[in-house]
Amino acid sequence: MKFKIITIFPAVCRAYLDEAMLKRAQDSGAAEIKTYDLRAWTDDNHHTVDDAPYGGGAGMIMKLEPFYKAVQELKVESSKLKVKEPLRGEIKRKIVLLSAKGKTWNQELAREYSKLDEVILICGRYEGVDERIKEFIDEEISIGDYVLTGGELGALVMVDSIVRLLPGVLG
Ligand code: SAM
Repeated sequence: MKFKIITIFPAVCRAYLDEAMLKRAQDSGAAEIKTYDLRAWTDDNHHTVDDAPYGGGAGMIMKLEPFYKAVQELKVESSKLKVKEPLRGEIKRKIVLLSAKGKTWNQELAREYSKLDEVILICGRYEGVDERIKEFIDEEISIGDYVLTGGELGALVMVDSIVRLLPGVLG
């Protein structure tokens, strides 16, 4: 199963992903977990990812365009068949925004997600992500009734709880 985490802090995620059970799952090929720096999809010199809210209001929100470009590119990347992958039609994929307002993550959802081929996880920061992102995501997921500083911890919680359920990972 493939995981693609879009974040402005890929190194924060990698520190957790490349240890213990998650490292073994990647080494064995049960899971492929990639992290992507959102700033790679910006086109100004400062690699800006935040902006004033579209409809006004306090604080900064994350711009829509870099996320949109990232998701489009990562979807195309997945549709290219690779050796060892079975031939099949549609990829079973979910595009998820980590959000305090989302559906609360639990073991039942982890079981459901473990049957997918791919999950693209979008990590917000600042005051959240431009609301228009809802037009191209499948689900908003919260990892609990509290507000975190960013979506990275949520993405890691999701990946960890799903990978444990993949065949062969826990032996
Ligand atoms: N003003 C936003 C709100 O009320 O929802 C809070 C944004 S929060 C400071 C920044 C980012 O952290 C969010 O865009 C989201 O990606 C992530 N986040 C915060 N709490 C979360 C939670 N409980 N579960 C998952 N992600 C969360």
